[in-house]
Amino acid sequence: GPHMIESYLLKHLAGYIDGQWVEADSGETAEVFNPANSKQLAAIPYMKAAETKRAIAAAKAALPHVPDVATRREWLEDMRDALLDEKEEIGRILCLEHGKPWKEAQGEVEYAASFFDYHAGMMEEALAPEVLPQKAKDCTWTVHKRSIGVAGLITPWNFPIGMIAKKIAPAIAAGCPTVTKPATETPLTMIAMFQLMHERLDLPKGMVNLVMGSSKDIGGELMSSPDVPMISFTGSTGVGQLLIEQSKDWVKKLGLELGGNAPFIVLDDADLDSAADHLIANKFRGGGQTCVCANRIYVQSSVYDEFSKKVIDRVKALKVGDGMDEDVNVGPLINAAGFDKVKDHVQDALSKGAKLEVGKHPDELDSDKSLFYSPTVITDVTHDMKCCTDETFGPLVPLIKFDTDEEALKLGNQTEFGLASYVFGKDEARAHKIIANLHFGHCGFNTGTGPAAHAPFGGMLQSGVGREGGHDGLMEYIELQTVPSAD
Ligand code: ADP
Repeated sequence: GPHMIESYLLKHLAGYIDGQWVEADSGETAEVFNPANSKQLAAIPYMKAAETKRAIAAAKAALPHVPDVATRREWLEDMRDALLDEKEEIGRILCLEHGKPWKEAQGEVEYAASFFDYHAGMMEEALAPEVLPQKAKDCTWTVHKRSIGVAGLITPWNFPIGMIAKKIAPAIAAGCPTVTKPATETPLTMIAMFQLMHERLDLPKGMVNLVMGSSKDIGGELMSSPDVPMISFTGSTGVGQLLIEQSKDWVKKLGLELGGNAPFIVLDDADLDSAADHLIANKFRGGGQTCVCANRIYVQSSVYDEFSKKVIDRVKALKVGDGMDEDVNVGPLINAAGFDKVKDHVQDALSKGAKLEVGKHPDELDSDKSLFYSPTVITDVTHDMKCCTDETFGPLVPLIKFDTDEEALKLGNQTEFGLASYVFGKDEARAHKIIANLHFGHCGFNTGTGPAAHAPFGGMLQSGVGREGGHDGLMEYIELQTVPSAD
């Protein structure tokens, strides 16, 4: 198909099955666009169930050829080094297909490398069999950590390499052959990563497979196959719920990282400049399109005006544009649907009495013309507005007033989601009283930072099940086998 993007890491605009680059059976392709200018970057194969079946069969056939821990550790180290060597080129591809700022794209490649590095460092100890100190029933009890088998990995577009790294690194560590499906919007970074695995690692055929195309057909095949006992998915809660339904016939293990609706609570004793700096860094990462971006910003009434002014000044200074320009802070939204959702949230808030402090009036914005949404701050926001009840996933800062700590906690928890949250304040005991009662898997205290490779990250409630990162993230790909042995 047409090949507009030039890169030595994109020699093949193809899927990867059983150690071979492959086209779609039908010859059909799908177009990939640069959201900054709507120009086509490439056409990639549009695969369906048949190709997925072959990828699953190849992965299953690789199972007996999965080598020992030491070899898998070397693969992870080689992959870490490969990503760091090729950081600039992968970051460039990522920037072109996603639109995020150049520096963020480069940082995301480093973040991806950190998952290979972390798992390489911890896997031997984590996977060693554990002999339990208790003897019972005249036996010695050993717990073995067995690979769960073939894992299906389904990733979203907002971190085109970060999301696959946090799945495939523990999968390889655990000894799981994988079948990966990238997001339709951002397959090129994934293809580049597979090119690196193809060139640099001496993997058995079928150890890693890549299929792209129909989400419904590929997902359906992964879910209906008895040969894929585990699925790790990051994406919307709606698709996550569908996967739960589809997993029942074979009682599959699911790792689900779903939507969020992150509260960001600023108490009256917080360092307001620092809180505002952290809010900007957190809120505008990926153009506001990450599941850990603050969605609802709660500010105690006595500092509301002062904090709002600090946020407004900082947002006014942000530069919007093509992520390839080095001084840009905020790129385009990924597609028209994403753009229209932000616009709808702003329109809804203004119609219910919110005040537009920074940003264009939604009537001046049109997703047909461009996907750049101007960073927007609204004040006098109330909890009946869509920007509070639903994740905006874009560059909108809604500032909500609260009076007491109890109210902040109640409002913060007023969502069916439970991924990321943030609390800013000087008095640790006071802040931790709130943190301990927030139903979120991640809660930044005086920081807007997101997850890191060495720590378990995941959601409570409708934000998902399971964790990624840390020892717990590796264990998602492991089945425990308990062996009592008669002395
Ligand atoms: P987002 O809002 O991030 O696009 P989605 O849940 O739609 O969230 O997409 C996340 C990933 O799930 C993407 O790779 C997408 O192609 C895939 N996906 C979408 N629909 C299905 C489905 N029915 N079965 C399996 N995967 C799906």
